[in-house]
Amino acid sequence: MVNVTVFGAGREVGRSCFEVKGPNTKLLLDYGVLVREDRPVLPLSSSSKDMNGLIITHAHLDHSGAAPFFYTSGTPPAYMTNMTMQLTDILIRDLLHLSAYYIPFEALELKTMIDGYTEIDGKPERMGEAEVEFSSSGHIPGSVNALIRLDGKSIWYSGDINTIDTALLKGAKIDLPELDLAIMESTYATVDHPPREEQEKKLMEVVNDVVEGGGLALIPAFSVGRSQEMLCVLQKHGFKYDVALDGMSRTASRVILTRPGELRDPKLLKDAMSRARWVSGEKDRKKVMNRPGVIISSSGMLTGGASTRYMDKIKNRTRDCVILVSYQVPGTPGRILLDQGKYGPPGELRDVKCRTEWINFSSHCGSKSLMGIAKSLKGNPKILCVHGEAASCIALAENIKRETGHEALAPCIGESVRL
Ligand SMILES: [Zn+2]
Ligand SMILES: [Zn+2]
Repeated sequence: MVNVTVFGAGREVGRSCFEVKGPNTKLLLDYGVLVREDRPVLPLSSSSKDMNGLIITHAHLDHSGAAPFFYTSGTPPAYMTNMTMQLTDILIRDLLHLSAYYIPFEALELKTMIDGYTEIDGKPERMGEAEVEFSSSGHIPGSVNALIRLDGKSIWYSGDINTIDTALLKGAKIDLPELDLAIMESTYATVDHPPREEQEKKLMEVVNDVVEGGGLALIPAFSVGRSQEMLCVLQKHGFKYDVALDGMSRTASRVILTRPGELRDPKLLKDAMSRARWVSGEKDRKKVMNRPGVIISSSGMLTGGASTRYMDKIKNRTRDCVILVSYQVPGTPGRILLDQGKYGPPGELRDVKCRTEWINFSSHCGSKSLMGIAKSLKGNPKILCVHGEAASCIALAENIKRETGHEALAPCIGESVRL
């Protein structure tokens, strides 16, 4: 018998965590934080005792951010790709830097986790009595999905997944055996993404228009994945004006280029990086801020980091433009800007004068691709729809039930299924 419990990401995007427990084996799939403007929130607590494997599917903080917590009281074996290890190290260091007061571990625990990690390198791994296979998820560099075989049951966890090629990565190829359970992300269960080419064209039109009008186009982007994707898109379309890179996006880009084999076209990223201006320090930032061009900078939802420094400046300039390029979590300044056209600290929101655009370069499957995955699943698996706003998780579960006949649920945090 195997029990799977939702510890986080039940009807929400953030703090992903699922416990898979067999008679003698306990695995944890991700242990992320929910990034809110005021503080990071952790999943339900689990203990490191008897944990046979802590699997981190990718470096985004909603999957990795709370993992070092277990190293305050033990040394459970952590599994991730080398790329995820390097990127997680950077992102959690930054999280500690920004939110140390709310985080129940320190840099020492992060170091213990990183020093002792086991690299996922394409071969199946044995964890207790479980055998776990990994394959690339096409979401960000280093991202994987996991197939767990335990006590005669097969469980698949999508992590964050994208089956479509992007400028940066090849899409995930899904080839699974008969399953008993699938845990699927639902981020875009109610949205179908327009064709990628169209999105790229729209971005190019906006940035060319803004820059040729003497303005600055700020692209707040996640430091890992989206920033490099934006660099690649601009390069691919021969953007001829200034491009600057700031914030954590700089460090992440350097790391990502250390493993070119992960990328669809490493030369494209390499060329884009050598062409971009790497902003170093406040003086440089001021220079960049006051001339036409594109700035790519973390954070992607304007929750902090260098992108907010630029936003403070351009919000009152009519010829400038802020282009949000990813999902914006409810409550974040990026989401408030999209929904209300306002920006500022809590309680001091003001109308912005700059142009605001949302061009969603998603690195998650859209509704059609998610249904494509669900329809391709063999056996008669139960499906847990997670990692989405409540309406998205519920919609995916309903659609799957209707179109495949599989039992599909949108579990809340704390709920379990027994196999
Ligand atoms: Zn992610
Ligand atoms: Zn995620």
